[in-house]
Amino acid sequence: MTACRLEPCIKLPLSEEKLRESVDKAKDWTLMHGISKRSMKNYSKDQVQLLPFTLIPSSFPQKPFLIVKNVQVLLNQLIHKVAYDKEFLTNSLKSTIQTDSFTAKLFRIYETVYEEGFSQNISLGLLRSDYLLHDDCKIKQVEINTIAASFAALATITSQYHKYILGELGYTKEANERIPENNAIIGFCEGLVRAWELYNNTEAIILFIVEDVTYNISDQRFHEFQIRQLCPKIKIIRRSLTSLTLEEVKLGPNKELIVANMIVAVVYYRSGYELEAYPTEKEWDIRLLIERSRAIKCPSVQYHLAGTKKVQQSLAQSSVLKKFLKDETSVARVQEIFTGLYTLDFNEDGEKAIEMGISKPNKFVLKPQREGGGNNIYNENIKTWLSSMRDSQERTAWILMDRIYPPLQKNYLIRAVEDPSLEDNFDLLEVITELGVYGVIIGDSNNIIVNKQVGHILRTKASSEDEGGIVAGVGALDSPYLIS
Ligand code: ADP
Ligand code: MG
Repeated sequence: MTACRLEPCIKLPLSEEKLRESVDKAKDWTLMHGISKRSMKNYSKDQVQLLPFTLIPSSFPQKPFLIVKNVQVLLNQLIHKVAYDKEFLTNSLKSTIQTDSFTAKLFRIYETVYEEGFSQNISLGLLRSDYLLHDDCKIKQVEINTIAASFAALATITSQYHKYILGELGYTKEANERIPENNAIIGFCEGLVRAWELYNNTEAIILFIVEDVTYNISDQRFHEFQIRQLCPKIKIIRRSLTSLTLEEVKLGPNKELIVANMIVAVVYYRSGYELEAYPTEKEWDIRLLIERSRAIKCPSVQYHLAGTKKVQQSLAQSSVLKKFLKDETSVARVQEIFTGLYTLDFNEDGEKAIEMGISKPNKFVLKPQREGGGNNIYNENIKTWLSSMRDSQERTAWILMDRIYPPLQKNYLIRAVEDPSLEDNFDLLEVITELGVYGVIIGDSNNIIVNKQVGHILRTKASSEDEGGIVAGVGALDSPYLIS
């Protein structure tokens, strides 16, 4: 069922000797430049370990790469308009919030601040739209992330690493020509700094909302370091929703968000998209308090909702894009990157989708309203799930999506050695790659102030894996090597 193959950018396999030498250099370069995380097995604040990465950049056709790089500003605009359209969000999520309690809680917060009137009209979006190649040269969107879109920093470093290693292997010229410029970290941090400036209080700080224990520490810290370089005035603090108490977080007389006696200009969520971030009602109360405040949120709750799979599915209906994108060319350009997405609501379309999924499970992916990987259902399991849910309200919390079968290629995946009996941990594998494009958007209900495409990432996994989290150790950081 898989489409065709892509050739690797250099001849593989490498000789045993060349491979050993390259892997040694590669591990030292990447570790010393921050392609790392905290160990899950042996957590220590004194140590980081390698994140998985590919030895060489993976081949990626130039045409679809440019198509999605260029469409990013339209997607930014689309998400922004959707987020500021109460009627559309409400209609899209109406059935989902009856069964999905997480989305329902977010929606409740949204309705509350909407009814009270927003204290802050501006939203900051740091987005990442993810894609798989399909049938060789077409490219299709997997999803768009509006909260905690990760790896802008490590993607930038990975592009630099791949230039280095191709140079080591004797391909400096090709590396310079074929590995596109990537400054995602600067783009994201300029977005955060711009939002901080718009808040217009030089004493105010940026608050990162993080997990209780952060494994993906390097990517997050590089954002802090970059902001310090771009604007030395800005102080950054990190807190988890669980660690914040209602005594520590307050609203000031003009709805300023005050944390540890400092006014917060921008709240940047690197957590909060997952159930685990809200173990008790208190964390939801804190989220509501933050939304009520004058701080600029990345994302605001309406941006968070605009990034749900259910909204993605609503947008894929052909008539809908016309409402948000004025000219036909823009509609066609966005339509081109969408694949089939189907509602499972109790209506004619929903019944049709249930039938399709049960009769041809290999052609689809079944998705709940969750983020962070590992939640989707594939293959024969789709049959089982759809059959058991078909008469239950539960099904409206899910969507069905056409399965994309990307081309295979070969690459070496390198990982930290966690098993002491192993000397090294790398394999030449059949892999598939997922491209992410980063976008920055700042605006309010009337104006868009900033709208940019700022960089990209490739995430690569063995073709045998359905899903591949990088921090979980399945996927690997990669960068595209453009081929014609
Ligand atoms: P999450 O929000 O959990 O990241 P995604 O929609 O990105 O959810 O799905 C997770 C992974 O599942 C993707 O990175 C991709 O590898 C795979 N996947 C998702 N949708 C599809 C699809 N339509 N076809 C093939 N693989 C998919
Ligand atoms: Mg994803």
